[in-house]
Amino acid sequence: MNRVYNFSAGPSMLPLEVLEKAASELVCYGESGMSVMEMSHRSPDYEAIINDAEAMLRKLMNIPDNYKVLFLQGGASTQFAAVPMNLIKRTGKADYVVSGQFSGKAFKEAQKLGYDVKCIATTKEDNFDHVPTVTKDMVRPDAAYVHVCFNNTIYGTKYGYIPDTGDIPLVADMSSCIISEPVDVSRFGVIYAGAQKNMAPAGLTLVIVREDLLDYAEEKMPTMLEWKTMAENGSMYNTPPCYTIYMAKLVYEWILSIGGLDEMKKRNEAKAALLYDYLDNQDYYIAPVKEGSRSMMNVTFVTGDADLDKKFASEAAKAGLKNLKGHRSVGGMRASIYNAMPYAGVEALVNFMKKFAEENPKK
Ligand SMILES: *Cc1c(COP(=O)(O)O)cnc(C)c1O
Repeated sequence: MNRVYNFSAGPSMLPLEVLEKAASELVCYGESGMSVMEMSHRSPDYEAIINDAEAMLRKLMNIPDNYKVLFLQGGASTQFAAVPMNLIKRTGKADYVVSGQFSGKAFKEAQKLGYDVKCIATTKEDNFDHVPTVTKDMVRPDAAYVHVCFNNTIYGTKYGYIPDTGDIPLVADMSSCIISEPVDVSRFGVIYAGAQKNMAPAGLTLVIVREDLLDYAEEKMPTMLEWKTMAENGSMYNTPPCYTIYMAKLVYEWILSIGGLDEMKKRNEAKAALLYDYLDNQDYYIAPVKEGSRSMMNVTFVTGDADLDKKFASEAAKAGLKNLKGHRSVGGMRASIYNAMPYAGVEALVNFMKKFAEENPKK
């Protein structure tokens, strides 16, 4: 076995312990005589798996009882449409903060559906090198919700605070920071996340929604997008992404076994600090993100020379440090250091960065 350090933004690394556990029960799960992949989602064995997954996530994130946990499909991108369709009827209009590509897509999707949506803040003119400061007075008092993307995967920025929107529900896309640290769920109306960044393989979308927000869905809307229907059916209105939910359960179990989100945060902070401290104390690489907006999960940097950036990514790959090329829309480099990335992986990256800088002086 020759596993590399995989810095992919998603799908991304999974904890080795989780992969090994899944492998050990791949062909035959417990006493069931079959693989989880072959099970009816209505069977007692599978019921136990999905119930455990939810119970573990509730424990991990300390999710209050008045929130529903939904295991859905379609990716975070499907929620860009589902969010307005489930919530807009509360007042008829909604506010968006555009802090990067995904929040821009969420905003556009709501616009495309013909809704009265307003972009109340953006950092587009600064190339999204920080997140906007969102205050209560910026929000329309009759907005049905305020939508933010909490961690901007492509630009490597994150909210260092939870925007205060008063009584107006805050809806957050947490695809790339979910379960990376404790978060006060009660400050949000809805949290959603695609699983393939920090939680499980692709195919699962998590929605955590406050119960009182389930009553505003459009009458004419696809049943599959309706949170209330999914909540009333325990995420089993139709066949859920069974195997991916099982994998998520193993990931939750792993985090609980190491000490929960407090310990996870400690580990993630240590990894991010190692990389940012190095970036702050040299002058070969430039880290474009402003202090206060730095992501703990996606760390972006450039050399300032597109050819050198390209060389960096390809030589790093040869050294077993894979997928460091930045997103195709921004270039440069991006190291995604999600929960499953070990500290040793970031150490190896920093050592490689030092060596590369020495061996490739800038002209
Ligand atoms: C990756 C990502 C998405 C898109 O997720 P899909 O599951 O591919 O639809 C949306 N938002 C954020 C923050 C992401 O990182």
